[in-house]
Amino acid sequence: MGRVSGRSCIVTGAAQGIGRAIAEALLEEGASVCFADINGDRVFEVANLNRKTYGDKKVTHAQVDVTDRSAVRAMIDHTVATFGKLDVNFNNAGVNRPMNFMEVTEDNWNFIMGINGLGCMIGMQEAARQMIAQGTGGKIINTASIASRQGFDNVAPYCASKFAVVSLTQSGARDLAKHDITVTGFAPGVVATEMWEQVDQDLMEIGAAERPGQAMEEFSAEILRGRVAKPQDIVGTTTFLAAPESDYMTGQIVMIDGGMTLV
Ligand code: NAD
Repeated sequence: MGRVSGRSCIVTGAAQGIGRAIAEALLEEGASVCFADINGDRVFEVANLNRKTYGDKKVTHAQVDVTDRSAVRAMIDHTVATFGKLDVNFNNAGVNRPMNFMEVTEDNWNFIMGINGLGCMIGMQEAARQMIAQGTGGKIINTASIASRQGFDNVAPYCASKFAVVSLTQSGARDLAKHDITVTGFAPGVVATEMWEQVDQDLMEIGAAERPGQAMEEFSAEILRGRVAKPQDIVGTTTFLAAPESDYMTGQIVMIDGGMTLV
C-alpha cells in the first residue's frame, strides 16, 4: 500500500518541472493521476511514458489552460470519467516573466496574475464543486513560492500572484472546511527547472544579470542547505499533503526552500 493508494489526483503544470515530479511521485505511492498542462504535446508524451509503467487505469492526461473555466471543468470531468472520482487537486501551473519594477506593464501583470492567481482560484472552485457533489471531502493543494513571503525586485507581478495564492489558500480553507475539504500549499525556493532557465535569460535581457547562471547563483547564496533544489526535493512534502497523514492541516503553506525564508 502506498501513501496515497486509491486516490484520484489532478496535477496542473505536469508536463515538466515540479508538476511532473509531483505527479510521478503520487503514482509511485499508489495514486491515479491526470497529468494536465497547456502544452498538450508534451503532457501527452510525459503521460505516455508513465502509462508504460503504471498502465492506462492509473494514468491519464488533459490539455488545459488553467485560466479557462470550461477547459478546467472538462479536465475534471475527464478525470472523473476515467478514475470515478476526484480526491486531490494540485493547482501547480505557473509562469514568471521578469521585468524591472518601473517597466512592469499591464500585459505583464495580467499574464502572470491571470495564470498564477485567477488560474489557481478557478482550479480550486471547480475541484471543490466536484468534491462537494461527491460528498467525499478532498484535498486542494496550491503551489506558492518564497515569492509569496517577500516582494523581490524584477518580479513584482510574480510575487503579487504568489501572495494571492497564499490568501486563496486561506480563504478556500475557511470556506470549504464545512465540506471536509482541506486547502494547503507549499512554497519552493529556487528549484532547477525550465522556469528558472527562462528567468535567468529574462533577467539578463533586462540588465539584471550579466552572464548565464549569475542570477540563480546570487539569489541562492543564502540557502542554508547550501544548494538549489531539484524537483525531487519537493515531492516528499507534496505527497504528504495529498495523503491522509496531513488530514488535520488546512489553510497552511509549507516552506520547502532549504532555509531561505525563515517565517
Ligand atoms: P515550469 O515552467 O518548468 O513548468 C510550468 C508548467 O506549467 C509548464 O509545463 C507549462 O506549460 C505549464 N503552464 C503554464 N501556463 C499554463 C496554463 N495557463 N495552463 C496550464 N498549464 C500551464 O515551472 P516549474 O518551475 O516546474 O514551476 C511549477 C510551479 O512552481 C509554478 O507555479 C511556479 O511558480 C512554482 N515555483 C517554482 C519555483 C522554481 O524555482 N522553479 C520556485 C517557487 C515556485
